[in-house]
Amino acid sequence: MSKDTPKKTVLKAVAKTPRPSKEEAMAAVRTLIAWAGDNPDREGLIDTPKRVVNAYSEWYRGYDLDPAAELSRVFEDVSGYDDMVILRDIDVESHCEHHMAPFLGTAYVAYLPTDKVVGISKLVKVVEIFAKRLQTQETMTAQIADAIDEALKPRGSAVMIDAVHQCMSTRGVHHPNVSTITTQFTGEFKTNPALQERFLRLIKPT
Ligand SMILES: [Zn+2]
Repeated sequence: MSKDTPKKTVLKAVAKTPRPSKEEAMAAVRTLIAWAGDNPDREGLIDTPKRVVNAYSEWYRGYDLDPAAELSRVFEDVSGYDDMVILRDIDVESHCEHHMAPFLGTAYVAYLPTDKVVGISKLVKVVEIFAKRLQTQETMTAQIADAIDEALKPRGSAVMIDAVHQCMSTRGVHHPNVSTITTQFTGEFKTNPALQERFLRLIKPT
């Protein structure tokens, strides 16, 4: 990646394939049940396609939401506050794009405001919007930092995610205790190691 052409993260997911109907999605779940080796017509499974499709509406609701819209309302009257704002222990419930298996963990988000701040609940919402899509942990970490940088133009942002991937704990290598940590630092957080250290110290449990 050259310095002059920074990669622009696509904040709004755009579906290239038309969204199938609910009935088509339920038929696909029936196929997967049969593929697993069970009978989709037995009593316990008869309503499963409907339940799975409804669960998908929750797990993947981030496609219908726009993180930029969440961050559009800012407050400028902060009495000169210019130190870092940190949110820690934000629950992350996402699904990996390779196996569609859950990955669960915690996100920590910080930024150094210039002249405006955003409602803190909006930052939680941004994490949630990106989590409720098919993701890699690395992409999601970068997307959160990008969204904050674009909307707030802060002096820097910092994002850390610590998560356990069920595609690794319940299948494949079967290592249930491995957690993955990803970090993304921008602006002053990237150039100033002391700021990174302070961020990492402040997010530790008290
Ligand atoms: Zn996976």
